[in-house]
Amino acid sequence: MKKVGSTRGLGARYGSTVRKRYVKVITELKKPHKCPQCGFIRVHRVSVGVWQCGKCNYTYAGGAYTPITKLGVIAKRSAKGAAEEAAKTAAPTVEAVTSEEVE
Ligand SMILES: [Zn+2]
Repeated sequence: MKKVGSTRGLGARYGSTVRKRYVKVITELKKPHKCPQCGFIRVHRVSVGVWQCGKCNYTYAGGAYTPITKLGVIAKRSAKGAAEEAAKTAAPTVEAVTSEEVE
């Protein structure tokens, strides 16, 4: 009874590495997500990369499988600190991570 949960139905197919990755993605996808607008745990995925809050109908773009992506956090952070960041250094921050999260 080790491999229950989301792998049910997949059986022994696709290999363990793929199954593990699948479980990780699916559990993340099915997890209740918090709305960045109203704070309620009512966010569900309406489409790939599109998330909507059932409480306030706030719709936003996120990752394909999770509402908040690493890239999004970095982008947000660099956008927020852009002014002070620009004053300190002229080094680009976003370019290095653009190859990530390609679905
Ligand atoms: Zn909301």
